[in-house]
Amino acid sequence: MAEIRSPGSLMEECRQYDAQLSELRMLLDERLHAARAELALASEPHEVTPPVAWVRPSAEAVRRASRDVAAIEAAIERMDLGLYGTCTECEAFLPLDRLRLAPHVQLCAACAGETRMSA
Ligand SMILES: [Zn+2]
Repeated sequence: MAEIRSPGSLMEECRQYDAQLSELRMLLDERLHAARAELALASEPHEVTPPVAWVRPSAEAVRRASRDVAAIEAAIERMDLGLYGTCTECEAFLPLDRLRLAPHVQLCAACAGETRMSA
């Protein structure tokens, strides 16, 4: 006999999913804000403390910061489209732990080439 889940438990799962999505959305918004601030900082000379020193704009830092902003914006766009949480390469579901760690990541560990053979 196939096990049929009660509508109640499905509803519960749906609620949890919604809660997780809005949690991740908040994370994304936070990170977008931070990444934009970093991009603005990287783009012009600024003072850092401590120690007090002037940091010159570095092309590398600007590149990195704008890549972050773009990745986060893309993730938010995917969320709005209802595509968020799946790998853009293989369409596998991304584990929640991975998304919590890096909510803008759009590749599963395998597609991102992160899988390492354990010794
Ligand atoms: Zn993948």
